[in-house]
Amino acid sequence: MYSSLLTFSYLIASVTFIVGLKMLSHPATARKGNLVAAVGMTLAVIGTIFLYEKDGESLGNYGWIFAGIAVGTILGTVSAKKVKMTAMPEMVSLFNGMGGACAALISLVEFDHLSYAGTTANPVFLLIVVLGLVIGSISFAGSVIAWGKLNGSIKDFAFPGQHIFNLLVLAVIIGMAGYLIALSPAQPQWFIYGIFGLSILYGLFFVFPIGGADMPVVISLLNSFTGVAAACGGFLYDNKVMLTGGILVGAAGTLLTILMCKAMNRSLANVLIGSFGGGAKATAAAGAQGSYKEITLSDTAVLMSYANKVYIVPGYGLAVAQAQHICHELEKLLESKGVEVNYAIHPVAGRMPGHMNVLLAEADVPYDKLKEMEQANDEFATTDVVLVLGANDVVNPAAKSDPASPIYGMPILDVELSKHIIVNKRSMKPGYAGIENELFFRPKTSMLFGDAKKVLQDLVAEIKSL
Ligand code: NDP
Repeated sequence: MYSSLLTFSYLIASVTFIVGLKMLSHPATARKGNLVAAVGMTLAVIGTIFLYEKDGESLGNYGWIFAGIAVGTILGTVSAKKVKMTAMPEMVSLFNGMGGACAALISLVEFDHLSYAGTTANPVFLLIVVLGLVIGSISFAGSVIAWGKLNGSIKDFAFPGQHIFNLLVLAVIIGMAGYLIALSPAQPQWFIYGIFGLSILYGLFFVFPIGGADMPVVISLLNSFTGVAAACGGFLYDNKVMLTGGILVGAAGTLLTILMCKAMNRSLANVLIGSFGGGAKATAAAGAQGSYKEITLSDTAVLMSYANKVYIVPGYGLAVAQAQHICHELEKLLESKGVEVNYAIHPVAGRMPGHMNVLLAEADVPYDKLKEMEQANDEFATTDVVLVLGANDVVNPAAKSDPASPIYGMPILDVELSKHIIVNKRSMKPGYAGIENELFFRPKTSMLFGDAKKVLQDLVAEIKSL
């Protein structure tokens, strides 16, 4: 009776995950989608705690279980409430790492059970234990490094022959895993901890050298790793909902990785051996020279008010300044003057996939105004003014012209095709990839220095006073 109810709750939860995921694919339904999947997950957790039975016995250990849930809920809620929008990717990375760590711990515990039981384990079961351990540990260690890199506390690090070292470590892990599976858990305990330690090492050295603009790919790849590791846990416990949830995360993460690779023009093989980006940074950072010209607020106001067509290119700086609301106000003001205004959204603008869509949706910018990169690139030639707001790497022409650049090959927004480019940022400092941007020195470009929010507030006031 209880077990049928539990299966039914798992079925409902699995359906909510799929519906929620589908709703996440559009900004208008994304919030609700998240909520729908969260309700499903709550149902699955409560169902497991109260309805699970094995040999007529229920789960027990309620004190431990609820203490764990309380600690997790408090930490999760407080950190999610406190986190700034711009620090969201770091938090997501850290949370992803926790998922990987959980999967690795499950495998360690289950291996322990097997070796205490002293029985010959089913090799498939052992394979899943080891897979969960290896993938979960790599995901945990890699996500912690990604977290540190995103918040600036960890710098890129590489040494000559690192890729060979990485491949060797991976080969040793695979060899040890194969040996363990072939000989059942008769190995001493240190053997499984050896695999665990090497997997952590691999996770660290896998992400350490990845630099510049390539982090989005690695973050979504680590996300898919966590999904696969969780699915291994579902297999071990014969828990359908854990299996479904893990597979969905794994599949969604893999698809996102492929899309990100396409957006960054990188091959997945390069990602897997951790060998892209970073290397050429020093040469490229030597960068652009020459002089740039500045534009005043009043000239910007006139230029934009009398334009027929304006494109706004939002970037990470817009999120830092929290200038999305005033940006929407500028757009409405210009439209009231008969100017056509749209936003050009680069797939890796900001610090997380879909960052700009989320940011602008928060300010109620209509979705049909958000144009994808390809569409915007087709329209720049007929655009009078492009206003670049806190974006840098995503409009850097070095991606097309400088083979030594770490972002070489990444498709960019071709803002140079338009008549005037106005770039708002606070200084001439580089963006995330750490490289100069020649666009700022080109004849059609004018710099409008200052914090995006303050500049936009002043610009709106200036246009109103015209
Ligand atoms: P960039 O990081 O290239 O540049 C942002 C610019 O914003 C900086 O040059 C900075 O210049 C400016 N800025 C910062 N604060 C403000 C402010 N308050 N007001 C005005 N300007 C400000 O951003 P992009 O969006 O162009 O590119 C994103 C980069 O991040 C890419 O390299 C991408 O690969 C990477 N990335 C993307 C992820 C994703 O999933 N989207 C994840 C991880 C990395 P200044 O200091 O002079 O003001």
